[in-house]
Amino acid sequence: MGKIIITAPGAPLRRSIDHILDSLCPQPAGKKIWVKPNMLGPFEPAQGVTTSPKVLEAVVDALLNRQASVVVGDNPGVPGNQEGIAAITGILDASKGCWRNIGVNTSAVRLTGRWSDITINISSIWLQADLIINLPCLKTHALTLMTGAVKNMFGGVPGRTKSYLHTLAPSANSFAELLVEIYSIRPPEIVIMDALKVMEGNGPSGGKLRPLGVIIGGDNSVSVDAAGSMIMGRRPERIPLLREAYRRELGEIDLSKLAVEGEVPVLPHFKMPSNIIASIANRFNSLAAIYAVVPQIIKDKCIRCGLCARTCRSQAIIEKEPLYYIDYNRCISCYCCAEVCPRQAVRLPHIREELLQRIFHLFRKRSHGES
Ligand code: SF4
Ligand code: SF4
Repeated sequence: MGKIIITAPGAPLRRSIDHILDSLCPQPAGKKIWVKPNMLGPFEPAQGVTTSPKVLEAVVDALLNRQASVVVGDNPGVPGNQEGIAAITGILDASKGCWRNIGVNTSAVRLTGRWSDITINISSIWLQADLIINLPCLKTHALTLMTGAVKNMFGGVPGRTKSYLHTLAPSANSFAELLVEIYSIRPPEIVIMDALKVMEGNGPSGGKLRPLGVIIGGDNSVSVDAAGSMIMGRRPERIPLLREAYRRELGEIDLSKLAVEGEVPVLPHFKMPSNIIASIANRFNSLAAIYAVVPQIIKDKCIRCGLCARTCRSQAIIEKEPLYYIDYNRCISCYCCAEVCPRQAVRLPHIREELLQRIFHLFRKRSHGES
């Protein structure tokens, strides 16, 4: 039976980490352990987009005390200087000398099933480590509704391959299938989820933080995510990613079938992303495009760093002085631009606003005699 440990809100962090490691990782001495935080991009710790340096530091310190050989690393979603991003996020300092640029050494892996004609490069540490400790943070995600432990393993894929994979699987359902396929390359043995603050709204970088003060440990990423989705007030089977992982027998999502220590602290009135209707409609593929919201760039917030344009594999973001613009004929609503924008300048409108805008543009076209 799988095991989940949900610490009490506000419990002392180091004691919680020691308890989770003693329960789930009894003999780490001498093992090469890859600690995999969420290091999405150049976000400061207070923004709550990346794994809290406090959580990472407690885990690394506890493992070093237990004589483990630790490697901390992640491949950010944006191109650029990995070490610089690690410094901004606080991950470099929190790693206590164990941080490595894991994007340098890669191994080719052939995917399976409907993706069997695709070979991708992943960080070699993913295959070489004796143990993997997955260290996600709990957030909403505009495309996949939530991001936690399963999606965190997408960070094992370096460089621009991630945005290339988005173009192969633009809908929420197909992307969920692809993420689960990538996760299945080698599921991590242990998960320690940072739910000190939980992001609601348009995550994974543009939402708002809700304080919770909880850490969730577990021996299966799918089950830990199932607990995470319940904190958000959503049943796990309503999250495409978890539905797919369960279908592939990669983990239990019914908490009553797991050994759960602690209570699930449900956050009241939790806000899901603007794109939620499209994510649900994705089950009926023909409806997905109708309900998908398209991003907008807020000119007052944009600092013209160009990260969104460099990340967009559909080349839908065009630099036109004085700003960047989105070509909606090219946009596939993957929301990578919103994910990487360091200033929350890429906005996802609410579905009601999106539909009203479309009706407005339709009438405008008709009154101008356009077809
Ligand atoms: S929208 Fe964001 S990522 Fe894009 S150029 Fe502006 S600030 Fe940079
Ligand atoms: S503009 Fe943004 S949402 Fe549209 S395809 Fe590019 S990265 Fe994806």
